[in-house]
Amino acid sequence: MNSHNTLICVIGGAGYIGSHMVALLQANGYSVVVIDDLSTGFLTSIPKVLFEQGSILDKEFLADFFTRYNIGAVFHFASSIQVGESVSNPRKYYKNNLIGTISLLDQMVESKVSKLIFSSTAAIFGSPDYTPIDELHPRRPLSPYGRSKLFVEEILADYETAYNLRSVSLRYFNAAGASPCGQLGERHFPETHLIPLLLQCAANRSPSFSIFGNDYDTADGTCVRDYIHVEDLCRAHLLSLSYLDKDNPSAAFNLGTGVGHSVSEVVSAVEDVTRSKLNIQIKPRRPGDPASLVADGKKANLALGWMPTRVDLKEIIAHAWAWEQKHPWI
Ligand code: UDP
Repeated sequence: MNSHNTLICVIGGAGYIGSHMVALLQANGYSVVVIDDLSTGFLTSIPKVLFEQGSILDKEFLADFFTRYNIGAVFHFASSIQVGESVSNPRKYYKNNLIGTISLLDQMVESKVSKLIFSSTAAIFGSPDYTPIDELHPRRPLSPYGRSKLFVEEILADYETAYNLRSVSLRYFNAAGASPCGQLGERHFPETHLIPLLLQCAANRSPSFSIFGNDYDTADGTCVRDYIHVEDLCRAHLLSLSYLDKDNPSAAFNLGTGVGHSVSEVVSAVEDVTRSKLNIQIKPRRPGDPASLVADGKKANLALGWMPTRVDLKEIIAHAWAWEQKHPWI
């Protein structure tokens, strides 16, 4: 069934990527209801939309929610996302990302909701044998975070076979940027991500920035990542919904620009965009960081017709900078 005629549920709609997704769905004429427990998301991030506060770990809440709303498809963004924290506190990651998601899937089966767009991650690949990383690359996650997402991907395959719950798993490389209109952007407490931390430094909200390791086997010794604009990511989700609407089977796609930038390159780009000179320190490597993660997006291009459009790193940073300046919350 065409999802335009149904209600779309966005779980984690108060978070960074989820809030951009809600805005994109609404701009494309979809009716949306958001679930968020507000543990890391912000009510003020959600565009004007139906909202239910609750957790996917709360089975009674989920059962009641799916009884009250006639949901056609679910976008599931709600998860714990810090690789380092997952190593020191794996219980949190298996509880929120694995048990929470299974509880959601079971309720979807119960309520006969058969379409899911699932937020997966490049972290399922671990240290790559080759880059760009395509979907055939072996999956050997290095952290409980990566494993929690990989387990869900595998469970989704079983749920399709047994219960006809079809899904698209989207493996994000490094989501970055903000809505060009400046309304939505990235906000985490504590902030651990590269670009927001550099921008906080440029805005004099922190005295210095630490590069985690400059002895990697890369051109300049710092880690290489594939920074993908949050709006490009969200468009891939929208196309994934159309893909499921056309009765296609479950699939998983790697989402990135195909171009990698080193941490030092990102530092220089931030200095250019913000016209500032940052106080940079070199610190030891962060546990669990592979040297280089760059996506091969061909499969998503072929199957979904998806192509990233905002691939200029400085443009991505400029959007994040505009958002940072508009929202000086620290
Ligand atoms: N990074 C860094 N200093 C920081 C935060 C991040 O050098 O304070 C590096 C990190 O080691 C990685 C890259 O920046 O190589 C991107 O890290 P981020 O946490 O933004 O995303 P991840 O790659 O972990 O998903």
